Amino acid sequence: MREACDLVVVGAGPGGLAAACRAAEAGLEVLVLDTQPEPGGQVWRGEARKGANRLARRWLTRFAASGARFRPGARVVAAPEPGVLLVEEGSSSFAVRYSRAVLATGARERFLPFPGWTLPGVLGVSGLQVLIKDGLPIRGKRVVLAGTGPLLLAAAATIHAHGGEVLYIAEQASAESHWGFALQLWRHPTKLLQGALMSAALIRVPTSTDAWVIAAEGEGRVESVRLSVRGREEQLRCDYLGAAYGLVPNLEVARLLGCETSAGTVVVNERMETRVPKVHAVGELLGIGGMDQALVTGELAGLVAAEQPIPVELERTWHRVRAFAAQLARHDAPRAELRRLATPDTLLCRCEDVPLSALEGCQNLREARLYARLGMGACQGRTCGTAAQTLFGWSGEDVRPPCLPARIGSLRLPSDVSSTHTRES
Ligand SMILES: Cc1cc2nc3c(=O)[nH]c(=O)nc-3n(C[C@H](O)[C@H](O)[C@H](O)COP(=O)(O)OP(=O)(O)OC[C@H]3O[C@@H](n4cnc5c(N)ncnc54)[C@H](O)[C@@H]3O)c2cc1C
Repeated sequence: MREACDLVVVGAGPGGLAAACRAAEAGLEVLVLDTQPEPGGQVWRGEARKGANRLARRWLTRFAASGARFRPGARVVAAPEPGVLLVEEGSSSFAVRYSRAVLATGARERFLPFPGWTLPGVLGVSGLQVLIKDGLPIRGKRVVLAGTGPLLLAAAATIHAHGGEVLYIAEQASAESHWGFALQLWRHPTKLLQGALMSAALIRVPTSTDAWVIAAEGEGRVESVRLSVRGREEQLRCDYLGAAYGLVPNLEVARLLGCETSAGTVVVNERMETRVPKVHAVGELLGIGGMDQALVTGELAGLVAAEQPIPVELERTWHRVRAFAAQLARHDAPRAELRRLATPDTLLCRCEDVPLSALEGCQNLREARLYARLGMGACQGRTCGTAAQTLFGWSGEDVRPPCLPARIGSLRLPSDVSSTHTRES
């Protein structure tokens, strides 16, 4: 099976939706692919059904009317040649031939290992929030959150709203960095208001900067956590621990296509063009900046792809959201102590049961993969690879296809799609 389009958009979060709307409204034939069953990405997950969030509803309605086609459950797994993507969808697969691409694959949580981090009941901060939104019963459950940045507050607000008890919020950033970041928020009134409303709802929840989880303990599942809070140790009994240290961009598809990356983000110019001709990147791929950044960069990429003029206001917004992303990156940078929590027998790769001690002597991710099987399991290093990069300062290795686990048959390029065939016919 094959598909052809003017513009393929990988990822249907706010960034991908904004790009698709702008390009389709200008007359391009647009195909949007996403692994999820519905459009919306991380922040608007489930909104296509619920319709509770006004901004999400506006964009999802606009997307539905734009003429862009959406293929749900479609995972981009390989890019065998310029202008072609291989996609796995359920038990079948297909190839997409495109003239331009917008990559909007978002971000994932940064998990850092500590003793007990693989116990049931220990989840990511936003992962726990997503599960609750999807129906995990949390009423009456005691939850400790440890991590960094605004997503801690967002998760705490969701737990609180669903009847859970947030026992403690441990923010790893120093007090100086945290309050410095908060003071800068006057430049971003919407975010300031969101933060103030969430903080007001959580006023009774003990919160500390310079605080992080040392260990999770329990028989068969988490029963208590030990925290380091400004140099002293505290123990709390709990039912769930949400622990993750900010987000990192999902660079796999961008790397497959050969896009240049720097400091863990895709390099783009002001037109959201990567160094690969006719390939754009938007949203969290440019550095963690949240929904506002995703929308504005998506709109810019969609307009450029469709060769439309760029409104000055959109450019101004881009500069503003970029400044916010830079502040957030400084705030969320994991402190040195977090790199020293794992003990030699702490599992670093939970898919392949690789303890930290097995990486002794490895100099980079490739060696860790070859000699210790780190990242060879189902998640393909999405969790442990990121952790190892943070722990050892290793850079991301080149991605080889498939970038997500895939059937061998999905990696076959149909002969009528390859450029050789196109030239001959
Ligand atoms: C778990 C989680 C929860 C979050 N919750 C919130 C929240 O509640 N509030 C908030 O403000 N921010 C939240 N964020 C931050 C969020 O990243 C941004 O606010 C916003 O969603 C970014 O938009 P985006 O379009 O860049 O990416 P995303 O919204 O992340 O969308 C990226 C999309 O790309 C798809 N994708 C990735 N790889 C492939 C592939 N190979 N093939 C096909 N599709 C692919 C994904 O399925 C996803 O739908 C969350 C982030 C995470 C990781």
